Amino acid sequence: MLRINELKLPLNHAEAELPAAILKRLDIPAEDLLGFSVYKRSYDARKKTAIVLIYSLDVEVRNEQQVLQRLHHDQHLMPSPDTRYQFVATPEQLAAAHAGQPRPVVIGTGPCGLFAALLLAQMGLRPIILERGKQVRERTVDTFGFWRKRKLNPESNVQFGEGGAGTFSDGKLYSQIKDPKHYGRKVLTEFVQAGAPEEIIYVSKPHIGTFRLVKMVEQMRANIEAMGGEYHFESKVVDLDIEQQADGGQIRGVVLENGVRIATNHLVLAVGHSARDTFEMLYERGVYVEAKPFSIGFRVEHPQSLIDQCRFGPNAGHPILGAADYKLVHHASNGRAVYSFCMCPGGTVVAASSEEGRVVTNGMSQYSRNERNANSAIVVSISPEVDYPGHPLAGIAFQRELEARAFQLGGANYNAPGQLMGDFVAGRPSTAFGAVIPSFKPGVHLTDLAEILPEFAVTALREAFPAFDKQVKGYFKQDAVLTGLETRTSSPVRIKRRDDTLQSLNTRGLFPAGEGAGYAGGILSAGVDGIKVAEAVAQSILAGAAK
Ligand code: FAD
Repeated sequence: MLRINELKLPLNHAEAELPAAILKRLDIPAEDLLGFSVYKRSYDARKKTAIVLIYSLDVEVRNEQQVLQRLHHDQHLMPSPDTRYQFVATPEQLAAAHAGQPRPVVIGTGPCGLFAALLLAQMGLRPIILERGKQVRERTVDTFGFWRKRKLNPESNVQFGEGGAGTFSDGKLYSQIKDPKHYGRKVLTEFVQAGAPEEIIYVSKPHIGTFRLVKMVEQMRANIEAMGGEYHFESKVVDLDIEQQADGGQIRGVVLENGVRIATNHLVLAVGHSARDTFEMLYERGVYVEAKPFSIGFRVEHPQSLIDQCRFGPNAGHPILGAADYKLVHHASNGRAVYSFCMCPGGTVVAASSEEGRVVTNGMSQYSRNERNANSAIVVSISPEVDYPGHPLAGIAFQRELEARAFQLGGANYNAPGQLMGDFVAGRPSTAFGAVIPSFKPGVHLTDLAEILPEFAVTALREAFPAFDKQVKGYFKQDAVLTGLETRTSSPVRIKRRDDTLQSLNTRGLFPAGEGAGYAGGILSAGVDGIKVAEAVAQSILAGAAK
């Protein structure tokens, strides 16, 4: 099989033009082309009137070696790499090495915990999976209930429950992580087997939206259970059993809120970035935790049609292109970076609180991405050295303080405080919406958002919005709506692990993983990290390292 990269065709090319372009590129007769499949498809929209599709293709041809030799100067032609997933050990090898030991335990059913559990189950290790929240259907009822009736369940919401933080999301499935072993492909392949559309395998920026994610998460649970995995919902881990040994701690078990103790020597900790009580427990138990940078800012809503027009011009609305996204960065004169984060085309802004008396925003969409507004977080980077020094958990206190301010400024009833972009930049409170109607539920209370954020962040954002207009024409729109507050952009802590074994720096058998541990930032990268730690668990079992 040969891989052809960078094969370009116009956006509206006919189906037959693709094989014709392959024949031309390889300079072979039609009968020598035995078959082909699309490995990736992206687009180049820099010229709006002449948008180009860019293909990577896997092509089967007669006399493959001769073709390769003849075209050896073509950098974009090579033998197709084998991207199939290879297990690090067989179930038989692991069964022998693991005999008599307690089962591995996974905390969290977000993408990281889900993939860790799936891989452990596929390797025959029958993991026990502990989730503080509810099954995804019941969780959906609680979460939508909060948006409609302002009644927050601190254990069942946008952050907590089966499927993790990304369940009510845009379901963007791409990442910029280095992935030489093609773990991302394994994640996408498993998602397709669980019901995701096949296109996620080959389009360059795939997304699946909220409702499909819910079904996929359920299907993956069924698969894991069929392989011997065991789920426990409403089972919050509140303590760890760590045996102190001469050279550090060794995990021996976990304790649930109801007092039940589960023995294990291999614990995958995939608790996400909002498990603040769990971070506190880890710190108290002496597990190595350090503060980490993250970002704060607002959600911004524009009409989706404005973004589509700016990115795609006359091709706005083309079915292959879908709703347009954007990516923005501005380096403010006070030294702060301001950037767009988790952009959701054709989506809605959602209430993402997990603690009472605090307001947090985030974004989600459905597969169709056909809501009227585009939303994105616009955030300012902050760091522990400068902004919350002195304690490994100081970032959590900082987040809590800002979220509580947002709650008060919104009217202390879970409305988000909001402001028009023009008013924010001009430094005056807003009193009425313009043409952009915000999507946040339960509601938006217009006010002066400068009161919530530290001055450096306000200054940097006021500079960034007009500057973004140079990157997306029309972005600095007087009546675009800002809502606050974005604080959960990534984890405020890192639960540091060793590079070789992926176990905690000072606690053997503990595998900190995913976004909460500071090793992922998104659904795909969290899933990939879940695969990596499952492999590390298997390798540790084989090596007999965690006894
Ligand atoms: P999480 O998904 O946070 O999962 C952690 C799980 O652990 C939760 O289910 C939680 O209930 C459980 N847990 C926590 N503490 C305990 C405990 N003590 N005991 C038992 N269980 C516990 N990323 C993208 O790539 N694309 C997107 O489109 C996207 N949109 C998003 C939209 C929203 C609204 C949100 C909130 C996030 C979005 N993200 C998106 C980010 C993405 O969801 C996260 O990066 C990802 O979910 C992190 O995965 P994780 O498994 O590490 O942690």
